[in-house]
Amino acid sequence: MKVLYSETHHRHAPAHELTREGYTPYFECPQRAESILRSLREAPGFQIIAPSPHPSESLLSIHDPGYLHFLEAIYPAWVKAGEPASGVVPVTFAQGGRRPADLVNQTGYYCFDTTPIVEGTYAAALEAARCALCAAELLLGGERAVYALCRPPGHHAAAALCGGYCYLNNAALAATRLGGRVALLDIDYHHGNGTQEIFYTSNQVLFLSLHADPNDAYPFFWGYADECGAGKGEGYTRNFPLPAGTGDADYLAALDQALALIRNFCPDYLVLSAGFDLLAGDPLGDFAVSLEGLQWIGEKLADLRLPTLVVQEGGYNLENLGPAALNLLSPFA
Ligand SMILES: [Zn+2]
Repeated sequence: MKVLYSETHHRHAPAHELTREGYTPYFECPQRAESILRSLREAPGFQIIAPSPHPSESLLSIHDPGYLHFLEAIYPAWVKAGEPASGVVPVTFAQGGRRPADLVNQTGYYCFDTTPIVEGTYAAALEAARCALCAAELLLGGERAVYALCRPPGHHAAAALCGGYCYLNNAALAATRLGGRVALLDIDYHHGNGTQEIFYTSNQVLFLSLHADPNDAYPFFWGYADECGAGKGEGYTRNFPLPAGTGDADYLAALDQALALIRNFCPDYLVLSAGFDLLAGDPLGDFAVSLEGLQWIGEKLADLRLPTLVVQEGGYNLENLGPAALNLLSPFA
């Protein structure tokens, strides 16, 4: 299986994040991608390749031009204005209000939480997006399954909002590049609110998400079962909120419901937003899905017999990320 990976993600390594405990070490760290890469290199059958350059216009297929300019230009403007070099972090949020002219003051306009932007963030996010776009092109060229080892992840990023460690929506970019009818299944522990927003009125992308009940878990404000799409997209968004402690049997039962909807949709492609924070022992999750359960998930998805693009999202237990990737991907190999 071809694996798209770029070393550029190392340039995005914020030292801290703001949590309810105050400033804590940044969970979404470069070691995450490194541990997955190490496992894939040690296993047979994976070919690691670097993404080719893509015109930045590709990002405009889903992202707002003002937002892209903000992501690219904010860090130097922030430092020049005398703000802390440790990273761009909003302290106020627009909540639907208007965009100020000054770039530094736009920070809370384009962020929905305090996910920081550091010097290398845009370069890393751009390379992650390129990994997903190149993976989509390989699928268009006839590959059966391709894995985009993206970092930073993307599923919380909306058309004009960053948050939840995400800046550019890698999976949504890939789905748009593929064209045709795409089933986009998100198995990250957290709801893929950015992806949902991007495709909420589309009937070409069926978005399905299995995740922790937002009443109890981040991102709190999206991912409820009655969010089903709007306009011509009505019925093309489906959410499966699951309780704390969800284990293999209950998870696979919910997945079977999602798979029935996918089969009914008759997609040309499957894009999988793969977050490994659904596994037992993740520091940011409270599900009890096992590594063996993740392999069963991979087998069920491979049984769809669709050209499949797997995009890396979350997962924060450095001990199990490598085995998780192997278990999920091996049924496609
Ligand atoms: Zn997550």
